[in-house]
Amino acid sequence: MHVKLALVLVALAVLPVAAQGDAVDVRFRAIPDARNVGEYVKRLSARPHHLGSPYDKQNADWILAKFREWGWDAQIERYDVLFPTPKERTLELLGPTRFKASLEEPELPVDPTSGQKSEQLPPYNAYSIDGDVTGPLVYVNYGRPEDYDELERRGVPVKGAIVIARYAQTWRGIKPKVAAEHGAIGCLIYSDPRDDGYFVDQAFPAGPSRSKDSVQRGSVMDMPLYPGDPQTPGYASTADAKRLAIADVKTLTKIPVLPISWGDAQPLLAALTGPLAPTDWRGALPLTYRLGPGSARVHLKVAFNWDRVPVYNVIAKLAGSTYSGEWIIRGNHHDAWVNGAQDPSSGMASELEEARALGELVKQGWRPKRTIVYAAWDGEEQGLLGSTEWVEHHAAELRDKAVAYINTDGNSRGFLGMSGSHVLEQFINRVARDVEDPETRLPVWKRAQARAIATGAPAARTEARSRADLRIAALGSGSDYSAFLQHAGIASLNLGFGGQSQSDGVYHSIYDDFYYYSTFIDPDFAYGRALAQTVGTAVIRLADAELLPFEFGNLADTVQSYVRELQALLRTQQDDVRERNRQIEEGIFSAMNNPGRPIKPPLVEAIAPALNFAPLENAAVSLTAAADRYRRAVDGSRGRLTADLTKRVNAKLIAGERRLTDASGLPGREWYRHLLYAPGFYTGYAVKTIPGVREGIEQKQYVEAEAEIVRAAGAVQREVDLLNDAATDLESLKATP
Ligand SMILES: [Zn+2]
Repeated sequence: MHVKLALVLVALAVLPVAAQGDAVDVRFRAIPDARNVGEYVKRLSARPHHLGSPYDKQNADWILAKFREWGWDAQIERYDVLFPTPKERTLELLGPTRFKASLEEPELPVDPTSGQKSEQLPPYNAYSIDGDVTGPLVYVNYGRPEDYDELERRGVPVKGAIVIARYAQTWRGIKPKVAAEHGAIGCLIYSDPRDDGYFVDQAFPAGPSRSKDSVQRGSVMDMPLYPGDPQTPGYASTADAKRLAIADVKTLTKIPVLPISWGDAQPLLAALTGPLAPTDWRGALPLTYRLGPGSARVHLKVAFNWDRVPVYNVIAKLAGSTYSGEWIIRGNHHDAWVNGAQDPSSGMASELEEARALGELVKQGWRPKRTIVYAAWDGEEQGLLGSTEWVEHHAAELRDKAVAYINTDGNSRGFLGMSGSHVLEQFINRVARDVEDPETRLPVWKRAQARAIATGAPAARTEARSRADLRIAALGSGSDYSAFLQHAGIASLNLGFGGQSQSDGVYHSIYDDFYYYSTFIDPDFAYGRALAQTVGTAVIRLADAELLPFEFGNLADTVQSYVRELQALLRTQQDDVRERNRQIEEGIFSAMNNPGRPIKPPLVEAIAPALNFAPLENAAVSLTAAADRYRRAVDGSRGRLTADLTKRVNAKLIAGERRLTDASGLPGREWYRHLLYAPGFYTGYAVKTIPGVREGIEQKQYVEAEAEIVRAAGAVQREVDLLNDAATDLESLKATP
């Protein structure tokens, strides 16, 4: 009875990828409704819902029921994970004056959920060890390795001290890690108003910035080593899994840690004596920033309940009609530190509205060609627990089936941020051209381009004007894509709007709630709708494309740029050390010294040797050639692809990202297998590209860096071989007219 329809389908089958998806994805984009997004944010954030809490489970059950109502085949998949919660938190200044920190975030009358005290987790850093320490206080700026070099030159001892670091610049878990490496016995992390408080904008509730008593909770697990349940590294924390003893876990901190508000930090900082802090170390508090140590002595005590709690991941599927064994996976976490309207409910709400709209299309008769898997992760905040355990559990299945993973997290207002695997760079640029910005009615791509031009350095500006695609950033860590991309080698994207409203000011505090979100971030939920339209469009196009829309020219271009960056990094390091050694020899440091405020000269260092980049340069050149050959083969095959051949080529494309991984992992951290992208060992969330080589150079392990050049080149060469194979498959069409 659908003869006409069948003819249309045959005709569509020979059209290029983008056009094939159009009819369905245009219809899709009309469905998401901002009011629904608002309702979901309100429901999800109505009560505190951290991992292991009653409302966390209620949200998981509610999400499950919604997926089922919309026609999805949905299940909860449970794991059991280590999750410490505070039993005791004490922080006091013992001298020269006495002060006891409040460590509390007060209820605000204007903010209706801020008083849900019995369900709120108090401010703390998860996976800090228990500890009871007393010692002199030292201010360490952001607590990065280079900050300790400065302290050393100013003669400020850290050994045996309790350090106070400010949030920002580096991921929080790095601060206690580096502090412990320098012999500190305790670590405080506070939010300075310069970074997210009144220096940035008016403080909440008058404005969106962090207020005096607001504290940033957060995990300090050593995630750059491995994320997920600390007791089951690399495998799933199922009920019967073998677990490491807590004493053998390597991702807990070495010293006790506690986060505090600037209200609690101010008396501590004011009590510091010793050298003045360098100019760029000074925050925005009304006091003179000094380094210590002096007579300021601090007592810190923290103790935790080391409980095992359930993680509830909601996993929902729409079975594919043609390639049901190929999965397009999309996820956002549902757990929060407290109410979490922005982080994560705003992103979760968009995902739910996509799921409703996809269900609507199915009711209208559409079936995706590939299987679509939607996930609502639990336990993200503690260390990507739910997504990591799920990926580890389903590793074999994902190796065969996973085409791509698309992640979102808290959503905000403004410009589309796109990051991820560069084989998807061209694809996501195309998607962004077809979604309308709610405020300007321009394509969201155009707004993202405008931002790149307005804020970019000259070279980036020129490129944003002239390059066909906007460059997408590489992924480090900080949300649930890590296990997919960096462990399992699945091409991944992370998407979200932001940049137009200051949204860090309530991050991980009790004030990230519905009142805040609907007052300061996205009052009409228009950007929640735009995110649903963007991600849903991407999912539909990936699910329905005949030949997968992976493109390798942009990957090759990116790898070339990384190689140039590494060469420049080495050169800069050599030049800097050469110049510094010369200044030491010339006596510049002693001549510049202010005897009243002495600074020690740095030590003479060996200049980095030349490294042989040739293997990587050659592999990058081969990748550019193979990408070009593959693109021409795709163009030449248009309209002539058989189902069989499509399947064969797609199988190769799916394996493409896996080829960039190595089962033995990165040096010293085998969980991270991707040889192009990893979170920095000393930066945390921030990405290190070609990490083995880059960190080898940065950490002056030159022998290792050179070995890593060879290994990274091998990965790129494997990608080249695969692309050439895929091109050969497609070119076989030419031989048979
Ligand atoms: Zn989040």
